[in-house]
Amino acid sequence: MNYIEKRKTLVKSLIERNILTNKNVIRAMLKVPREDFLSEDAQSSAYIDSPISIGSDQTISAPHMNAMMCEILNIEKDDKILEIGTGSGYHAALCAELISIENKESKGHVYTIERHKELAKKAKENLKKTGYENRVTVIIGDGTLGYPEKAPYDKILVTAASPEKIPTPLKTQLQMGGILCIPAGTKNYIQKLYKIQKLECEFRVKAITSVRFVPLIGKYGFSNDDE
Ligand code: SAH
Repeated sequence: MNYIEKRKTLVKSLIERNILTNKNVIRAMLKVPREDFLSEDAQSSAYIDSPISIGSDQTISAPHMNAMMCEILNIEKDDKILEIGTGSGYHAALCAELISIENKESKGHVYTIERHKELAKKAKENLKKTGYENRVTVIIGDGTLGYPEKAPYDKILVTAASPEKIPTPLKTQLQMGGILCIPAGTKNYIQKLYKIQKLECEFRVKAITSVRFVPLIGKYGFSNDDE
């Protein structure tokens, strides 16, 4: 089976499992070539629904997690998006696809922050190779501080697990009415995925499901005591 066929089969199974329901997310998952964000030896596993190592002790999330986070965020065509944890760049590419579906003139943009220089460099190459470099800006730094230069954001997604206390800068940099999707809990993988919506007088918090992410390391994250 070639990659396009494998991609279709994976998307079909995510639809059958009720993980994928939004037609734009389905289209984006069918379009972005996940294999191009993996090292050569990992490419044959691109369409298995599991996390894969991307070097620097980090992993690209399982496709069902990418799908779930995109659905939670309800990404719309002109959204300005901030992602914390670029990793391979795959999820940033999905977001870039979603802000420009049927809209080549989209005003939307994806800012994505990665703390590992090597991963950021590779992600930039992957985004260039797949044609998303104009819609995605990769920044090297501590994403727990957000990226105030371009705030506020319509949507923020964090693809590493935060401590239970959500980094304040991310809440501050969220647009009124905006959505933050973030896993939070303990560093050793007991975490929940949250949908946090910023309203006039409160943050509306909804726990979606139990998850396992690598830790968010930084000023408002976990300390890097094992590095
Ligand atoms: N979204 C990625 C997968 C991310 S894995 C993809 O599609 O491939 C989580 C990433 O978060 C790792 O690359 C890790 O280095 C990064 N990370 C952890 N803490 C961070 C922080 N404070 N700022 C930026 N990146 C961070």
